[in-house]
Amino acid sequence: MTKPTRRAGDSTRAVHAGQRDGESHALVPPIHQTSTFWFRDSAELREFAEGRLERDEYGRYSNPTWRVVEHKLSDLEGAEETVLFSSGMSAATTTFLALLPKGGHIVVTNDCYRRTRQFIQQFLSKLEVEATVIEPANTAALKDALRDDTVFFFTESPTNPYLRVIDLPEAARICHERGTKVIIDGTFATPINHRPLDQGADLVVHSATKYLGGHNDLIAGTVSGGAEEIKPVREACGVLGGILDPHAAYLLLRGMKTLALRMERHNANGLAVARALEGHPKVRRVHYPGLASHPDHAVASQLMKGFAGVVTFEIEGDLEAAIRFTDACRVPYIAPSLGGVDALVEMPVLMSYWDYPPEERQAYGITDSLVRLSCGIEDAEDLIEDLEQALTQV
Ligand SMILES: *Cc1c(COP(=O)(O)O)cnc(C)c1O
Repeated sequence: MTKPTRRAGDSTRAVHAGQRDGESHALVPPIHQTSTFWFRDSAELREFAEGRLERDEYGRYSNPTWRVVEHKLSDLEGAEETVLFSSGMSAATTTFLALLPKGGHIVVTNDCYRRTRQFIQQFLSKLEVEATVIEPANTAALKDALRDDTVFFFTESPTNPYLRVIDLPEAARICHERGTKVIIDGTFATPINHRPLDQGADLVVHSATKYLGGHNDLIAGTVSGGAEEIKPVREACGVLGGILDPHAAYLLLRGMKTLALRMERHNANGLAVARALEGHPKVRRVHYPGLASHPDHAVASQLMKGFAGVVTFEIEGDLEAAIRFTDACRVPYIAPSLGGVDALVEMPVLMSYWDYPPEERQAYGITDSLVRLSCGIEDAEDLIEDLEQALTQV
């Protein structure tokens, strides 16, 4: 094979990477809907057991349909390996359990997916794991938080819901000096907008439920990184068993073919909507890394190719005003989640944080009039027109 002279573009990779394996000559990779794999005879089984033969054995450990998806995402992320999981939460929790010793220390950021926070508080505490929480952009606090026994620094980038962007090269430099690994939840960016492994991260986690799948029709998760880093994670997945059904793996593969194409539209829609909302008299504040008013705009512009479709904003008014706005939206569905072709709108105070006491919500910066909009791939003019009519209800 001739060596390619330049890196193929993301659209070409999203379509072709990981495919054309020559096994069945099917253009579309088959769904290997099987729980187990048969052996010709005991001699083959022995050859496999002794590590002289590489093949599939049992459906909790590997599946040919998974492999196509894993190779495609590895190619896009610039990773050596990827592991698929049944959900983003399974990907994160399995990774944490795989890497953490009893009593280990981690550093996390305060703006994060609520279930990740809950896992750390409720379950990692049983392993006597200690977590230090810092502000996302505060690399000085990161430096102070690191200890000799700090196993990893884990953060989303961009974070949820305030879309804070980490100065990853700087954070990785600080962590690696102390022998601490860096794990990035890249769900809000995707490898099209941001490739954390190129900028110093050791592992990148995704809720593939969001942009990677992209159609609001599946739940899945992924972890990508170097072969050495991935090995314990893959082994832990085989034990903990949070694996993806082969049919869902196929749906993810199909979604990922249009990832680069979809992200172009999500990026354009996010920016257009953020600009339209900023300065609107009924909107108090817009949080979007593509706006000069965002605290991490400079870092985000340097590290990212686009800022995706999620726009978080505060309605000028109280809870009732924000409810009137949300109920008046006709294009976005009122629903949790993000990153699909259909626009979704949610009020964090009523959804992710409804069961938190008001003081705690406030501590996490979740105000009553906060709205999180995930722009789909609709026409920007239609989204903006709809938001403007809904704002007249405030
Ligand atoms: C949705 C989400 C998760 C959880 O993923 P699931 O696929 O729903 O389990 C984790 N991190 C982020 C940033 C998310 O948006």
